[in-house]
Amino acid sequence: MSQQTVLVINCGSSSLKFSLINPSSTQVTISGIAERLLTSEAFIKISCNNEKSVIPLTTPFDHQVALQYLVDFLNKHGLTEQVSAVGHRVVHGGESYSQPTLIDNNVKDTINGLAQLAPLHNPVNLIGITAAEQAFPDLKQVAVFDTAFHQSMPEKAFIYGLPYDLYKEQGIRRYGFHGTSHYFVATKAAQALNMPLSSFSGITAHLGNGCSVCAIDNGESVDTSMGLTPLAGVVMGTRSGDIDPSIIFHLINQLGYSLDEVDTLLNKKSGLLGISQMSNDCRTIEDAIINDNNPQANLTMDIFCYRIAKTIASYMAAISHFDALVFTGGIGENSDLIRTRVVRSLSLLNLKLDTDKNTDIRFGKAGSINSDDSLACLVIPTNEELVIAMQTQQLIEQGE
Ligand code: ADP
Repeated sequence: MSQQTVLVINCGSSSLKFSLINPSSTQVTISGIAERLLTSEAFIKISCNNEKSVIPLTTPFDHQVALQYLVDFLNKHGLTEQVSAVGHRVVHGGESYSQPTLIDNNVKDTINGLAQLAPLHNPVNLIGITAAEQAFPDLKQVAVFDTAFHQSMPEKAFIYGLPYDLYKEQGIRRYGFHGTSHYFVATKAAQALNMPLSSFSGITAHLGNGCSVCAIDNGESVDTSMGLTPLAGVVMGTRSGDIDPSIIFHLINQLGYSLDEVDTLLNKKSGLLGISQMSNDCRTIEDAIINDNNPQANLTMDIFCYRIAKTIASYMAAISHFDALVFTGGIGENSDLIRTRVVRSLSLLNLKLDTDKNTDIRFGKAGSINSDDSLACLVIPTNEELVIAMQTQQLIEQGE
């Protein structure tokens, strides 16, 4: 079994990311992305043995064409026999799934039914599943849900201050996302601190284009900042995070916005991009601070970091003890400036950074960045694909 690899697929509306991973050795044989799908500019990028190729796709330029190209590529390189299963990232599992699940028609119907809670994600995840079933008819397919890890949250953390019927009858509640990432870095943090995950309590901050913070108590998610959808919580690249809900009525009733315009404003034009009026990319904003002392960039960063720090501090109400704060995601793994600004608001919680250790950790390095007189603060690169590969393999082996 150790030579077997899992094909991991993460399907977006116009993209399909994939990697071929050996879950035992963690070795990645192939990784890549098909982008601009459903347009005549669709192409596929594949890295295999340090060689990269970019190939235009052919009509109808869809997910199926991309996967067929991948199948041909695997055949050509004699890799097809090694693929033991396909693992899919599925964004919304609702209350139906707290574990990775073998995909059958019932599971596909449930994922489809949950599309009303995740209209931007679940339908495209299903497209990826259907395309993979056609491309690999003999392989088992497994769904790994972004929401699954957060299914351990208690009611007090996931019920909104709304009429209870909306939860009972319509499923309106906090679900949380980035679960695979929070689970992975919590597992690694527990290993680093020489304890089992079931004893680890702390806070994980996944800071990428999307950002979320998670309170973990004895290895389980007990609260998290994203909600019914990934729009909630801290400020993100282009998403607003939490706002006073009445702002939406104000935009519509007083300022004449349409519902679609509000949706676009909150999801695509807010966050770092909206405040900075510069970019959603943290590096651009950092450059403007460091090189130009740009006040708007500085304000943007302060707002971003303060909101994260406030969320971390509030989660002290959710956990029984504190072992570590963990940073991950493109920003959390690379930006010493953001880590500094987040942690400097947390000194009352006895969290302090060591400047040298903090500046030294980036580009995929893991390590501790706290000073000697502080509680633990770690940077741990996330690897959602590896978790999906491992959990897929485990499920397949359990069924054999
Ligand atoms: P996604 O949520 O799409 O997976 P990532 O986790 O890759 O995104 O994170 C993207 C973010 O990480 C961007 O805001 C980018 O600016 C930031 N980032 C990546 N590298 C660096 C770096 N060296 N310094 C600061 N920020 C970085």
